[in-house]
Order: sequence, then structure tokens, then C-alpha cells
Amino acid sequence: MLCRNPFIRDPTGKVFRQIAFAGRPLEDAVQGIPFPCGQCLPCLINKRRLWTHRLLLEAMCHERAAFITLTFREEDYPSDGSVQKRDVQLWIKRLRKLASPRKLRYYAVGEYGALTHRAHYHAIVFGIDTADIGLVEQSWPFGHVFVAECNRLTIQYVVGYVTKKMVRKDDGIQKEFAVMSRRPGLGFDSVVKLSGLIRDPKYAHLFQWDSSIPDGLRHGRMLMPFDRFIKDKLCKILEYDVDSTAFYKEMMYKFWKARSANPDYYHPLLDILLSESHQRFLQIKAKHKIFCTRNSI
Ligand SMILES: [Zn+2]
Repeated sequence: MLCRNPFIRDPTGKVFRQIAFAGRPLEDAVQGIPFPCGQCLPCLINKRRLWTHRLLLEAMCHERAAFITLTFREEDYPSDGSVQKRDVQLWIKRLRKLASPRKLRYYAVGEYGALTHRAHYHAIVFGIDTADIGLVEQSWPFGHVFVAECNRLTIQYVVGYVTKKMVRKDDGIQKEFAVMSRRPGLGFDSVVKLSGLIRDPKYAHLFQWDSSIPDGLRHGRMLMPFDRFIKDKLCKILEYDVDSTAFYKEMMYKFWKARSANPDYYHPLLDILLSESHQRFLQIKAKHKIFCTRNSI
């Protein structure tokens, strides 16, 4: 577990912070399930990775996709200096009308420039490509439009808003956000294709198998993890039962192994999990620092 601040849900369903386990019986700590906070740096980086994969999976289901940036010219700049979900929803509505009868799907974010702090939008739109720049220009009369290829890097760029978080509570402007196509969720259409590949032993090398349902898919040399949405859908379509016994067993094993190596070892299981991933955490932190420096040049 890479999360630096996980919660623990004990067997009765109560939720604790790591620290709350300090004086509690060891057995509670073993049986409680740790789950990530979703807020710390490793959690945010993980979220970025999972969403990148969701969009890559969605892209597998479309012949066309584009990376789009929308900015405001001075006269049309929002008076409160803020990004708005409504701006994006109305824009997509106009773009859909222009691109009809093609069906568009999208993932869009509102954010602020790292140096200029100016409000702008980025989107991955499925169903159009760079040849459709005319349509995009027509759909956004408020400023400059930039249209480029959709690939892993541009997807990662859009999803990267997750780790930026430049707006603070008391800044008085709308926080960075993402809006996207729903019903079905992005990536849903890929699940049928994936389940076909999973059933065929010929493609076993494409997946990472740690359990009965693969944890991720190889895209070239890159292994990308599946998020819970995709895993749940895969379980359903492949008729697998989600079984957590294996997970409990592994946790028990790790705990008792640590104890037998050092009988005076009274740290809860979580400490073991955290120390296990400490090295990896330091790497991630260092890599993120480089990532941020590059963005602000
Ligand atoms: Zn966390």
C-alpha cells in the first residue's frame, strides 16, 4: 500500500485512522482492512494513473479522438476569473450539435495556468480528430483553440489536473475539476473486448495476473492498472466472484511473518505495509518533484 495515511475498517465496520490503532489489540489491526485515503501524493498519482488507463481503454473503442485546449481572450475572460463546469457542458453541447450525427464522448478539466493562473480547459474528445479543428473553433468563440492528437501523453496531461490542486479554499474561485461522459462510464465499452482477450490464453501475456481477475493490461512496454470500475465490470461479465479471503490470508501471513522474525514486534500490520512500500514512496515523491519543476519552466 503506497498511501501514507490509510484508514482502517475493523471487523465491526468501524473506521479508524492509523494512529487510533496504537493501543488496540493486535488482532483488530490484523483483521481490519486498510484502505487508501485518496488525498496524499501517492493516492493522487495513483488516481492519475487509473484515469489515464480508463481514457486509453475508451480510446480503444473509437476510431477518432483528439486532445483539445480552450482558452479565453481578454474580452471574454470570466469576470470572476474562475473555471465553471457549466462552460464545459455548454461547449460540449455545441460541439455535439456541430459534429452530429457522430456520437461524442469526453473527459474535460477546468484548471489554472501554473505561471499565469489564467482559467482554461483541456479535454479529450472521442469521436472527432485533428481534422475537425474547424468544428472545435466554431464551438468555442471565446478565445484560442488548440487541437492535437490523443495519445497516452496528452491523456496524462489532461488527467494531470488531479495532482496540481493550485486553488485553496479561501481563494474564492472554483477549484480545479473534471467533467465527463457518464452512463455508461468511460471505458465501459472496452470491457467486452477485454473479457474476450482474458478468456483467450493466447493473450495471457497482455495481462498482469495477481488474482483471478487481471490487475492490469500491457500497452506496449507499459503496464497500466485497472481501476475498480473496470474490475467490477470484468467480474460481472466473466462471472467471477470477488473473493477477499486471499487478501486476508496474505495480510495474516505478512503479519505473523513479521512477528516470528521479531517476537517483540508490536507494530500494527499497517506499519509493516507502510515500511514495505517506503522505498517506492520515496521514488514516487522524487519523480513527482521533477514532474512539477518541468511544468513550471
Ligand atoms: Zn493516501
